Amino acid sequence: MEATLLKLTDENYFSPEANRQYMEVSQFKGFLPQYGGCEARQMAILNGTYQQEDSTPLLVGSYVHSHFEGTLDRFKQEHPEIFTKAGALKSQYQQANEMINCLETDESFKQVYTGDKEKIFTFDLFGVPWKIKVDCLNLKDGYFVDLKTTRDFQKVWDEELHRKVSFAEAWGYLVQIAIYKKGIEIVTNIKDIDGFIAAVTKQSPPDKAILYFTPEDYERGFQKVKENIQHVLDVKNGKVAPQRCGHCAYCRAIKKLDRAIHYSEL
Ligand SMILES: [Zn+2]
Repeated sequence: MEATLLKLTDENYFSPEANRQYMEVSQFKGFLPQYGGCEARQMAILNGTYQQEDSTPLLVGSYVHSHFEGTLDRFKQEHPEIFTKAGALKSQYQQANEMINCLETDESFKQVYTGDKEKIFTFDLFGVPWKIKVDCLNLKDGYFVDLKTTRDFQKVWDEELHRKVSFAEAWGYLVQIAIYKKGIEIVTNIKDIDGFIAAVTKQSPPDKAILYFTPEDYERGFQKVKENIQHVLDVKNGKVAPQRCGHCAYCRAIKKLDRAIHYSEL
């Protein structure tokens, strides 16, 4: 571990320095092809040689988050690209307003989504410092909620398991929920913190759901980290050369043809 760790704030939480010093769930997943990650791209992002553009789906998610954090006005100021030249909200963000409204008008959601918003925690796990940012934390009642925006609730094919799985599993939310639970329990010394995911779809009208998880689910998420963390850290610390996935935007951008390949390889 590094001698002096950056003290994390809302301002520096997503900074390159914070990402270099701390492990994080999305960073971890960014190394794993299973979750759409790529070691080469992730290292380029960490080294500051490649910047992932704010893609619209990500921005829609941030837009919805910032509303529930109470910072939507600032978000709009910082992202002029969400407006048309005429100054109207682009259609994707009008859709985001629909998603916000879909949750805001639901009494059960409002009851559940009460507590501290966007709370930052740091803790040691697997020999490295981790950082997490909890969307909604209700310590009094012993739970946290993570807000997710997703295209829809269709099941997704899993290459490894050879079957369709819930979108929550496909996007690595079991990993997130397991690490968040562990981290909050370590920092607060409270046992049996429960995690929920409040999900809203980008459909019109949007669908919504509140997901809960069993002890076995947390265990599966935790196992995924256990199995992969050493290799991820070896790559991050430069002990093992990062593999290119070969098809992400970063790999395509740096690709050079060096040989002909048999057509069946594609
Ligand atoms: Zn790649």
